[in-house]
Amino acid sequence: MCKPDTTPDTASESYVYDPSWLSRAQRMGDACAVCHTKWPRPRRVLGEQPDGSHVYGCDECAGIIGHQPVSAGGPLVAAR
Ligand SMILES: [Zn+2]
Repeated sequence: MCKPDTTPDTASESYVYDPSWLSRAQRMGDACAVCHTKWPRPRRVLGEQPDGSHVYGCDECAGIIGHQPVSAGGPLVAAR
């Protein structure tokens, strides 16, 4: 078998963002990809775009996405 090396490497580590979801500022790394905050400038890499450029987010959103997996079905806000 002479196959080219095309083993699909499931992107489980870096999330690939669809650029059509992002504003120009977000694509340029000038705004948080989640909450659109431009200042303070987002510094955390949340993922990348298909062309390999990084997508950035603020610390808060990076924490939500990256480090605290939300258990499915759990209520985000339990306020009464
Ligand atoms: Zn954010």
